[in-house]
Amino acid sequence: MLIDLHTHSTASDGTQPPAEVIERAATTGLDVVALTDHDSASGWQEAAAGAHQFGIGFVPGIEISTKHGGTGVHLLAYLLDPSYPPLRAELDKILAGRGGRLTSMLAQLRAIGVEITEADVIAQAGRSPAIGRPHVADVMVAKGLVANRSEAFATYLDPGRPGYAVRYAAHTAEMIRLVSEAGGVSVIAHPWGRGSRRVIDLAALSSFTSAGLVGLEVDHQDHTPGDRVELRRLAAEAGLLVTGASDYHGDGKVAHELGCNVTAPDQFEQLIEAAACAGRLSGRDVSAGVSW
Ligand code: AMP
Ligand code: ZN
Ligand code: FE
Ligand code: FE
Repeated sequence: MLIDLHTHSTASDGTQPPAEVIERAATTGLDVVALTDHDSASGWQEAAAGAHQFGIGFVPGIEISTKHGGTGVHLLAYLLDPSYPPLRAELDKILAGRGGRLTSMLAQLRAIGVEITEADVIAQAGRSPAIGRPHVADVMVAKGLVANRSEAFATYLDPGRPGYAVRYAAHTAEMIRLVSEAGGVSVIAHPWGRGSRRVIDLAALSSFTSAGLVGLEVDHQDHTPGDRVELRRLAAEAGLLVTGASDYHGDGKVAHELGCNVTAPDQFEQLIEAAACAGRLSGRDVSAGVSW
């Protein structure tokens, strides 16, 4: 059983439509794949139809932008009801924050002589309701300013670079509670990737576990083998499941091929059981009708 629980499509900042991500997962030999676009469930329907067509399991998810102690923490939420009004309101606030941040970023870039318009970026983002830095990066590539997304981040878009601006994110523990109320389960994405390494420790995880967190994405390209050993120990101490995933973005991210990290079947089963439990408690069970 090959299970990959973190992928992106053109419903956020991936480069392939949801059905193509699923098709590629099937041809790669994966048995189960989750689509976890940033702050949006808009790719789910197409992905679910693709999974049915290509005969693999599909888990609906969202990678939600949150903040703990002022530092960004990505929260993977699975099998939640995205129409739960308090959750919907928070996601809308995050998406609006992405739009406002774009205005700031473009003004900062203009100040250093890099001319990009909002219309350029919105056209580049296409169907994605989540406007991200990768879309700005793609415009820079199209204009010949940089060779690829990585160069755009390193030169302009990473924290400390001239095009970086902060945006709204929900509080991590509050979002974990909302996800449970929406019938889903939460897993911290790439806990020691980039900024979140500073804030994810046993104390933070214990407070998140009290809020309802069920897992930690240990096997991720952002983590060294040593990180993974330590994170497994932390997960065991905090009573959390361990997941693994590619964080696939199509051509948008190198060395993140589908299935490059996977989740163990027993951990997946426990994740599904926890989601079924949250679904029953909340009366919002979206796991019915989803197959794997
Ligand atoms: P944003 O959602 O606008 O804050 O941008 C964050 C997204 O940019 C992440 O989900 C990553 O997928 C992507 N990203 C961050 N750094 C890089 C990089 N160096 N190259 C390509 N994509 C990146
Ligand atoms: Zn992304
Ligand atoms: Fe992430
Ligand atoms: Fe991601």
